Amino acid sequence: MKTRLACPCGVMIRGEDEDDLVERAFAHLREQHPDLADEYEREHILFMAY
Ligand SMILES: [Zn+2]
Repeated sequence: MKTRLACPCGVMIRGEDEDDLVERAFAHLREQHPDLADEYEREHILFMAY
């Protein structure tokens, strides 16, 4: 299961499971990269996660 995501800005996002990771990733995007938050979807998050 994928639980970690390295954002291009250098922040490491960790979740308890995929749902949690996606939620945290979107929270980070909305906060730090609002221009990307609308473009990214769950699939994009999980594609970059590991
Ligand atoms: Zn970031």
